[in-house]
Order: sequence, then structure tokens, then C-alpha cells
Amino acid sequence: GEGEQIFSVRATPLKGRVMLAFEDLSQTEAAQQIRRDFVANVSHELKTPLTALMGFIETLRGPARNDETARERFLAIMERETARMNRLVNDLLSLSRVEAVARQRPSDEVDVPRLLASALNALRPIAEEAGVEVVFDLPEDLPPVPGDADQLTQVFTNLIENALKYGASGKRIEVRVTREERVASLKGPALRCEVRDFGYGIDPIHIPRLTERFYRVDSHRSREMGGTGLGLAIAKHIIARHRGRFAIESKPGEGARFTVFLPVGAGQGG
Ligand code: ADP
Repeated sequence: GEGEQIFSVRATPLKGRVMLAFEDLSQTEAAQQIRRDFVANVSHELKTPLTALMGFIETLRGPARNDETARERFLAIMERETARMNRLVNDLLSLSRVEAVARQRPSDEVDVPRLLASALNALRPIAEEAGVEVVFDLPEDLPPVPGDADQLTQVFTNLIENALKYGASGKRIEVRVTREERVASLKGPALRCEVRDFGYGIDPIHIPRLTERFYRVDSHRSREMGGTGLGLAIAKHIIARHRGRFAIESKPGEGARFTVFLPVGAGQGG
């Protein structure tokens, strides 16, 4: 997987002793392979809509030249494909910005419940259009966390958008923040932020791979929904930068729950 240390071990007999040479391959072969796969994926993701666009342009120039109805229909498809390419490029830029600051500690003081409330507010029209009721519990008396407000907005916007896209059949989503006195893996207090839906859920075999770039359970469906396959990969990187934890749980047929644990900074724990 990404970010792991990969070592090659060479054993060389030398004057009756065995020398073990550890060579860190994480920056060499494995990293290069990951990069090659990534470039191939990006190219493929861009090529598909481009091929469609080129085909439609040709049709509009030729057979559909004088067909008003066909022209409108094709232009609508071209608009949708262009918007999708635009989202893809935006997500790629986000990913590279997130990587660029991965080692910098985020320095804003973030009021997470408030941030979630405004993310929900921005997505309200989408929820209404999908006929999904949004239930939320966002207490006002929680401590702020050290974080990057823009990046955290991106994480929660993505999780809520996914709940509205893939979980819409459940007709309800829930968003809540609570304070946990001690999250064992974080060795301290944290805010537990949960986005939950009651849609068709995710088969557990897919869960470990969901945060990989371009991994989709059903790529046709994701594309139909305008997805880029990068949202959860970006979320994972942002949460890692915050030294948080990301948990994905699901019972197929009953919905999915995405939980982000954000450590409450030292000295504010109370
Ligand atoms: P996409 O742009 O495809 O939505 P994401 O990285 O945001 O990319 O999500 C990756 C995949 O995870 C999606 O394609 C979808 O298959 C699955 N997924 C994400 N959220 C949910 C959810 N709430 N319910 C069911 N499946 C989900």
C-alpha cells in the first residue's frame, strides 16, 4: 500500500559472515510503480470523456448538423462530460496540494460542529433534491481542534455528498459530533465526527480499499453520479495530516458509517 516502507534484503556471505544489507525501496521501485499506475489511471480517466467529446463534436459537424433535437441532447452530454473532467482536475489539484503540506502541522483553531453545520447548509439543496432528510447533532460546547479549516470542510463535504449520492435510498442521513475522553489509538481525547446513511451500504470486502485513488465499488454507478474516485483518498490524506483516524463501517443493505476522529490539542483537553 501507499506510504509503507518497503525494504529489500540482500544477504551476502563475506568472510564466513553474512552481511545483511537493507535497502529502502520505498522511494525507488515501489514508489515508481505506484506513480506509474497513478499516471496510467489519470490518463485513462481523462481519455474516456475526451473520446466521448471528440465523437460528439464529429457527429455535430456531420450527421446531426441540421437536427435541432439531437444537437441539444448531445450538447447536454458534452456539458456533463466537461463538468466531470473539471471535477477530476480539481480533485487532482486538491490531492497534490494536500500532499504538498502533508508534513506541516495544521494551525487553525477549528470549531468542528460549526464547520459541519455550514457544510450541511451548503449541501441542503442537494439533500432536498434527493429527498433525503438530514438529522444532525452538533453541540456548541465542544473544544476546538487544531486543524486546517478548508481541508476539514473538504473531508466532511465529501462524506456528506457520498451519503447523499450512494445512501439516498435510505431517505435519511445523520451527522453528529461527540467528544470522546480517550480514543485508544490516539492516546487521548478526540472529537468523534460521524456521517451515517441508511442506503445500500458497502460489501465489507471493499472497505479496506475504498481510500485508494480511483477505487470504486461500482465504477459505472460512480461515473453516473459524477464521481471521480478520489474523494476518500483525499479525505484519508487530510485526516492523516491531522493525526486523526478514519473508520468505515457498513452492513450491506443497512447503510454505511464514516467516522473521523480528530485529536483535541494538548492543553485544551480539560
Ligand atoms: P467517488 O467519486 O466515486 O464517489 P470516493 O472516493 O468518494 O469516490 O468513494 C469511493 C467509492 O466508495 C465510491 O465509488 C462508492 O463505491 C463507495 N462509497 C463511498 N461512500 C459510500 C456510501 N455512503 N455508501 C456506499 N458506497 C459508498
